[in-house]
Amino acid sequence: MADLQELYQQLVIDHGRHPRHFGKLADVNHTKEGYNPLCGDRLMVYIREEKGVIQEAQFEGSGCAISMASASLMMETIRGKSLLVIDTLFTDFHDAVTGKSKPDPKKLGKLAALSGVSEFPARVKCATLCWHTVIAALKNNKELITTE
Ligand code: ZN
Repeated sequence: MADLQELYQQLVIDHGRHPRHFGKLADVNHTKEGYNPLCGDRLMVYIREEKGVIQEAQFEGSGCAISMASASLMMETIRGKSLLVIDTLFTDFHDAVTGKSKPDPKKLGKLAALSGVSEFPARVKCATLCWHTVIAALKNNKELITTE
């Protein structure tokens, strides 16, 4: 189990330092800005969705390593998925990062790497900011999303 935790930690550090799918995306039909005032994480998400399925997803912004790693891993995960699947995934992810349930790597894939956040309750909002923002973008919520 210790090895798995170490692997998870490395994955988070790597994605935090070198976020994937980072940068503005053209030809999108959903964009949204999200802000976590507690930590100062700010990000903008760009999503191209067709018939309810995510074709492309990118983000840009700045924030702590957890927020960047979470957004990076999320963008990687949500391609090809529908809003319904993303909603369910977020429930599982949220349960894992808040320590409500043990992470199930079969359901969460690489997202399980962020489950260590459950030991640092103050960082939960850093890890979930991208999720709140993407889901609001897909639901065409017009308001700025903050984790407060
Ligand atoms: Zn943060």
